[in-house]
Amino acid sequence: MQGDGSAATAMLGLDGFVLLAVSEYAGEVEQAIETTQNEAFCRGCGVQARLHDRRPTWVRDLPAGGRPVTLVWVKRVWRCREHLCSVSTWTETSPAIRARASWTERARAEACRRVGQDGHCVAQVAADFGVGWATAMAAVREYGTPLVDGPARLVGVEALGVDETAFLAANATRNTQFVTGVVDVGTSRLLDVVPGRSGKALTSWVNTQPEQWRQAVQVTALDPFRGYATALSTSLPHAIRVLDAFHVTRLGFTAVDDVRRRVQQDTTGHRGRRDDPLYRIRRVLRRGADHLSQPAWTRLLAGLDAGDQDGQIAATWIAAQDLRLLYRAKSRAEAQRRLHHWLVHCADSNVPELHRLARTIDSWRTELLAYFDTGGVSNARTEAVNLLIKKIKRIGHGFRNFDNYRLRLLLHCGVDWHTHRPTPLRGRLPRLAA
Ligand SMILES: [Zn+2]
Repeated sequence: MQGDGSAATAMLGLDGFVLLAVSEYAGEVEQAIETTQNEAFCRGCGVQARLHDRRPTWVRDLPAGGRPVTLVWVKRVWRCREHLCSVSTWTETSPAIRARASWTERARAEACRRVGQDGHCVAQVAADFGVGWATAMAAVREYGTPLVDGPARLVGVEALGVDETAFLAANATRNTQFVTGVVDVGTSRLLDVVPGRSGKALTSWVNTQPEQWRQAVQVTALDPFRGYATALSTSLPHAIRVLDAFHVTRLGFTAVDDVRRRVQQDTTGHRGRRDDPLYRIRRVLRRGADHLSQPAWTRLLAGLDAGDQDGQIAATWIAAQDLRLLYRAKSRAEAQRRLHHWLVHCADSNVPELHRLARTIDSWRTELLAYFDTGGVSNARTEAVNLLIKKIKRIGHGFRNFDNYRLRLLLHCGVDWHTHRPTPLRGRLPRLAA
């Protein structure tokens, strides 16, 4: 039981305070409160102080009953009774409401949670609490930084996923800026984001982790970017590097797109237009063959018939499908056999894009086949985190400050919030006698 044990104070729920009165002010709720500390001793001489004055101070608090709440804290001003003491008067303080703060600490913590866990934008949360943007962001920073920087967040990582994501889109004065996202593949937790898309950025991040942590990482999942692979082979040499299935499949379909565009240009002399047969099947071409309906098949074949005269698109499409199906191999040996046939098929084709794709895949052969040694570790979860990253970016209307961006991302995708979940209503017994 808190404070004076009254119903009003139970409603207030603020440690060390009791609720004195509630009134309405312009459609909002105003609650007068005071601390439960009704005696004080001088910090100079230790003598019991006497009450000198009362001064109200207004702060924002959590909403109650759907309405904004302002607390009027009637602060006590104490005076030392000992006139020889150099301490004359002082105002009481509370950790719940800091000196000169415009809102309570619990409101600040909740603002941080809403921005972090719920992913709401800072401006909206600031408006809901009736504070300024900078005030709200300061609370996000103060409450969020310890959650993000705590060492516990990184514990227990066995499979590390690495992926790039765009941080700032290009404009007239700068190129697109990339960040490298590091993810715990096991739990889909975003571990960190580092500026830049380079092996160096990744290496220096890994090297700041404790030796024990690095030793515990067994597998790394990565997209086909040589910089990451080199960084991981030097900084985590014992971990098995696995090329992510999603990215491999995407390389195949990108080749299909490339060939379609080239053939389109060569045969019609212009880029794809709405009525061009190849342009009309561009989406069907990107789908897995086993997901095609009968009408889609018919459309696909008609489109190829009309636009793919020497069969280059068809050849690339088959290669992309085969590459995708490679991942259904039952064993590493089977995958290796199929990969070999696939490479030969590409090399024998008359499609330059397939030659290039085969060279790329061949250079990643070890990492690709490692998929079958690790029970199918996939970066798919990293991709899911990437979607969240995009969502946060949309809410923040594009970030300019990397530290704010990192904080917001980690609060949303990298922190266990342990928020209180309401207990069920069913099965409760009546507890109010009156
Ligand atoms: Zn004193």
